[in-house]
Amino acid sequence: MSKPISFALIGRSGCGKGTQAELLRKHFGNLFSVSTGNLLRDLSKTDSSVGKEIKKILANGELIPDFMIIGLWMRELCVNLKDDQGILFDGAFRRLIEAEQADQFLDFLGRKDAFFPILIDISREEAFDRLTKRRICKDCGKLIPFVGEFKKLEKCDNCGGELVGRQDDKTEAINNRLDFFDNEVKEVVDYYKNSNRLIVINGEQPIEKVFDDILKAVQ
Ligand SMILES: [Zn+2]
Repeated sequence: MSKPISFALIGRSGCGKGTQAELLRKHFGNLFSVSTGNLLRDLSKTDSSVGKEIKKILANGELIPDFMIIGLWMRELCVNLKDDQGILFDGAFRRLIEAEQADQFLDFLGRKDAFFPILIDISREEAFDRLTKRRICKDCGKLIPFVGEFKKLEKCDNCGGELVGRQDDKTEAINNRLDFFDNEVKEVVDYYKNSNRLIVINGEQPIEKVFDDILKAVQ
């Protein structure tokens, strides 16, 4: 029997990874999501020795060491992944070594052939626009992305509340995130590209079309 399929979604901030991850979870039903962001936040709330260090690093906005990131998602999968579940690496991978270790891990489980690294491709300019121009509802907190039909919304489509620019969308922080992609994550993209496994999806299309293209590519 073939192994359940697994995914890693890669792309610049603002490319819609979160939305597509949600759609994948709904479509496939039995995907095991592993989010290093969530694992780190959980860990930082514990009073273990490591938890305290992680809390400090997160508070200072510094980078978590690679071994810690890898150790966390690996442990999560070691302990909780079931045979019939595919894996969704949510927010992965940020560094080349992470992608390499994931390959070894997937190979160990006999799942490497059923693993799809997917690049949701948007230009740096598009990413910048989406990140600086997206809005949030003052009343219910719904995030309104700066894409397609949402650009024209005048009121929240959930509750009718007023839409305002996001406070945390500061230009410098955004440029740092986009630089990180161009410098570090680019190596991950090239790694999959060079082994002819990278699936490139045009992320500058409507959400449904992006998802459609993903499904077609993995079937
Ligand atoms: Zn609202």
